[in-house]
Amino acid sequence: MELNISGKNVLVTAASKGIGRAVAEQFIKEGCNVAICSRSKENLLKAVQEIKVIYNVEPLWFVCDINNLEDIENAIKLVNEAFGSIDILVNNCGGPPSGFFEELNDEDWDFAYKQILLSVIRFTRLVLPAMKEKKWGRIINITSLAVKQPVDNLILSNSLRSAVTAFAKTLSNQVGKYNITINNVAPGYTLTSRIYELAIIKAKQLGTSHEEVLASIANEVPMKRLARPDEVASLIVYLASELAGYITGSTIAVDGGIIKSTY
Ligand code: NAD
Repeated sequence: MELNISGKNVLVTAASKGIGRAVAEQFIKEGCNVAICSRSKENLLKAVQEIKVIYNVEPLWFVCDINNLEDIENAIKLVNEAFGSIDILVNNCGGPPSGFFEELNDEDWDFAYKQILLSVIRFTRLVLPAMKEKKWGRIINITSLAVKQPVDNLILSNSLRSAVTAFAKTLSNQVGKYNITINNVAPGYTLTSRIYELAIIKAKQLGTSHEEVLASIANEVPMKRLARPDEVASLIVYLASELAGYITGSTIAVDGGIIKSTY
């Protein structure tokens, strides 16, 4: 299958680890010019070195806290200086803290709003003008299974990611005429440091081990296992391709079947 995206300019945010990094690697495999950013210089350097060993390519990289407007503006400036413009934007972010309603205050909600929704709005606002001019663009937001089936102790994620879903759908209606698609990919339980962190918290609450927590999650999934990050990345790269040019405003889950609804 020819994806025809070789030479496209890609920015993947929050991409030093986990799903974001897997996405960056798959775009590199497809011959794209890839830029990655994240908050941690140490993690970025590690990722860049490992990617260089595997693919003999060094992605453009820079430190960027996606909760900070100046960092976002600087990130876009750096990618534009290096690549000319951005054809494909993958909006990823770190996961917000877990917690039930009573445990969270205004500060937590404000942080999660900036991290999950405002970052997507800001990056999107800055890449759209060039995409419109080129009459080609792809924006893909990484959200969560929580948008289709809320997770009890992740009220921040459930709420703000649903806002991203609505934002993407609304905006996709307005930019389709420029040959720009906007979609969301909703990962299910995926083997990254995020899922380990959540499993460790839950294990403490239940008085069990994180291995047992992960095994019990896997048991709930029809595929009887957690996802590999590259399985989420494959869909994202496909959505960025020419082949997916008629898919827009959609939210597609990569969840091993754990979402119980029919849509
Ligand atoms: P991860 O913790 O493995 O990686 C998160 C990445 O985000 C890291 O590179 C980190 O440096 C970066 N990051 C965090 N805060 C940042 C900030 N303020 N600015 C810039 N970079 C920042 O997480 P993951 O499992 O790969 O998850 C990616 C996204 O998918 C998260 O939003 C997560 O909630 C969501 N998700 C994950 C799962 C799962 O099971 N892993 C399931 C559903 C949804």
